[in-house]
Amino acid sequence: MTIGAILDALIKVLPNKDGGIALHEPCFDGREMDYVQECIRTRWVSSVGKYVDQFEKMLADFTGVKRVIAVVNGTAALHVAMKLIGVKENDEVLMPTQTFVATANVVSYLNAIPHFVDSEEKTLGLDPMKLEQYLNEIADTRGDGCYNRETGRKITAVIPVHLYGHPVDLDPLIEVCTMFKLEMIEDATESLGSFYKKRHTGNWGKLSALSFNGNKIITTGGGGAILTNNEALGRRAKHITSTARLPKNWNTYHDEIGFNYRMPNLNAALGCAQLEKLPKLLRLKRELAEKYQAIFTNIEGVTFFSEPNFSQSNYWLNTILVEDGVEMRNKVLEKTNNHGIQTRPAWTLMHRLPMYKECPRMDLSNAERLAEMIVNLPSSSFLSIA
Ligand SMILES: *Cc1c(COP(=O)(O)O)cnc(C)c1O
Repeated sequence: MTIGAILDALIKVLPNKDGGIALHEPCFDGREMDYVQECIRTRWVSSVGKYVDQFEKMLADFTGVKRVIAVVNGTAALHVAMKLIGVKENDEVLMPTQTFVATANVVSYLNAIPHFVDSEEKTLGLDPMKLEQYLNEIADTRGDGCYNRETGRKITAVIPVHLYGHPVDLDPLIEVCTMFKLEMIEDATESLGSFYKKRHTGNWGKLSALSFNGNKIITTGGGGAILTNNEALGRRAKHITSTARLPKNWNTYHDEIGFNYRMPNLNAALGCAQLEKLPKLLRLKRELAEKYQAIFTNIEGVTFFSEPNFSQSNYWLNTILVEDGVEMRNKVLEKTNNHGIQTRPAWTLMHRLPMYKECPRMDLSNAERLAEMIVNLPSSSFLSIA
């Protein structure tokens, strides 16, 4: 493999753009301006307004999930999902070490402890088989749940993360959850528009989280959503994300400690305009992925990551795996970025961060190996119109 061949491939696929090509940029060529201006004109910019309801309804229709609660960001969505699933102080929560830091942080917000799981090459996500073997070694399942024999702590839940938009292999993971009495919350913050076995990601866990940060497939500026098919949990989520206020009359009364996590109408207006275009964005992103796939099949030592046949990915961030070692991978990063084509390595693994290095974990050798190979490629939807 030559690094030059990788750069040439990228130049061939990508449009020739002054000022370089970013990893992921939003695209506002729909009715974004109309809807946002309407909010300003009518002065419905804040936590009440028709766009919040409309955005929630559109998301429910698209994902097939019964209840959607729009919130200020994906981290807030995950935080509330963790709390509602019953994660308590000193519990352990299983998650891949290969994720964005928010997944681990929300567990810490509840004074619980992240417990890191290895990844598999097939999906780049959590490895359900390896998790099962590991739990067989370290966990005891009793009447009320699963306990870590080594730490004595309860293991409450598992959070699969659909990394870069690629769905985790959920069926075997759900079997593991049943076997070990674990709750499952999906971190679907990167996977709006991705399906596992024809059903939308975020429609499998008891609760799930989406994100609409500026770099995600659609954006509300900042934003997120909690998804659930459980009516009672949906009501609870709405209640505690809107300061736990009881809407009885003109008095203000709050019946528990709530959060001010509601998505403002201004952001939801942007979101509605973005969601109208989601099918088109998905089509464009798939076209870009196909172009990358075609060109990288001919380059030795590089594999373009493509979806396994059980899933349909949104290809939020296209990924190649550079097989010749971390030094070669670093050279690829340097060469492409110097050329104005923004590429990125995988996030630093969670167990390597100072605040999480003492957390419990299984053998993480696959995640370590993959993290040294991953290069994320420019993936904005409009790049396929080269
Ligand atoms: C983006 C992201 C989040 C958090 O979303 P924000 O909206 O940025 O708070 C959480 N987990 C993962 C894996 C993400 O990529």
